[in-house]
Amino acid sequence: MTKAKTIDGKAFAEKLRKKITAQTAIMKEKHNVIPGLAVILIGEDPASQVYVRNKGKQTIEAGMNSYEFKMPPTTTQKKLIAKIKQLNKDKTVHGILVQLPLPKSIDERTIINAIAPEKDVDGFHVINVGKLATSQDDGMVPCTPLGCMVLIKDTMGNLTGKHAIVIGRSNIVGKPMAQLLLRENCTVTMAHSRTHDLEAECRRADIVVSAVGVEEIVRGEWIKPGAVVIDVGINRVQLSDGSYKLSGDVCFEEVAKVARAITPVPGGVGPMTIACLLGNTLKAACLQNGVEVPEV
Ligand code: NAD
Repeated sequence: MTKAKTIDGKAFAEKLRKKITAQTAIMKEKHNVIPGLAVILIGEDPASQVYVRNKGKQTIEAGMNSYEFKMPPTTTQKKLIAKIKQLNKDKTVHGILVQLPLPKSIDERTIINAIAPEKDVDGFHVINVGKLATSQDDGMVPCTPLGCMVLIKDTMGNLTGKHAIVIGRSNIVGKPMAQLLLRENCTVTMAHSRTHDLEAECRRADIVVSAVGVEEIVRGEWIKPGAVVIDVGINRVQLSDGSYKLSGDVCFEEVAKVARAITPVPGGVGPMTIACLLGNTLKAACLQNGVEVPEV
């Protein structure tokens, strides 16, 4: 049996970041605007610190301004909202991202909706969710599903009439992913923890996107021969020697024998997420300055 093509998300993200860097330089030269991304991190969660550091590094590499605000875990909701309001007004800041998860004392939905929708580069604000659902292109689309969509279209071209399944219905991945697939004229099945016979649902799909967070839940026999499989899951798995490795939701070995193409973990969807964040920051800077959004 032929082995599936491994979709190289790392290489694709690098290409995308190069294009964004070139457009950022044009923006600076022609319009005297340097896109600026502000990231707020509350507390000292090690994984969040790594994400924020990577975001800051890649923002600067793209020629944009990066502003990092580290606030203590004891930060109150009122204080965080005051910071967001200040950044909402700051003309040098075009994108605002509050790193999730937040401490339990802070209400995530209230915080997300405090960000000015045009600066909500994560695309989680209720206005941006509504714009995606109603196909209004001037909204911000969440970075992870946007990155998945770029990879799917690059692999398959026209998606009209394809049957897609999205496993996982979170607000940040599953639901926006389904909206994006719908926008490309796919017939979309949304699956989740209460779905009956997930295996049978999966086997009907030409496109499988898994965003569950359960190691290797998607098996080879679940996949229709020739399907394209996108693995969003990031699971930290302890090995027998005590060390850790990252693993996806998809059993790569099994699925690669059946699928046409598959994203690996790591090196698949993950790198595309930050590249799309930079793309959203550029888009936000353009829209806020009346500049046409470039095709990247
Ligand atoms: P979440 O916990 O908010 O949602 C998980 C979803 O999976 C839920 O809707 C739930 O109904 C569904 N689910 C749980 N168990 C299931 C089961 N047995 N069968 C079918 N569905 C089941 O998670 P999330 O924030 O959407 O993230 C999902 C995964 O994607 C996680 O592993 C996360 O780390 C990863 N992730 C990766 C990136 C990236 O950049 N690559 C970005 C965001 C999230």
